[in-house]
Amino acid sequence: MISDLKVKCLHEDCEWEGSLGQYVRAHENNCEHRLVSCPFANCGCDFKNKTKKELEKHLKDDDSKHVWMYARNTAKQLIDV
Ligand SMILES: [Zn+2]
Ligand SMILES: [Zn+2]
Repeated sequence: MISDLKVKCLHEDCEWEGSLGQYVRAHENNCEHRLVSCPFANCGCDFKNKTKKELEKHLKDDDSKHVWMYARNTAKQLIDV
């Protein structure tokens, strides 16, 4: 079974090891070293390809920036119609 194949996490800093099946099911989306983008990227936030930890900090620090981006984006859509 290919899902029993032993693999290591793709992210160099990550120590995780296990089967491919476990990786896909449980680790891939939860890896601390996975690079993520800000959920507000489509509103113009340029915070991209960061670790989950950095994102959590960014969401806290730039909270008011996001509110502003979201509001501006929504306003733009209303005007464009
Ligand atoms: Zn990992
Ligand atoms: Zn952001």
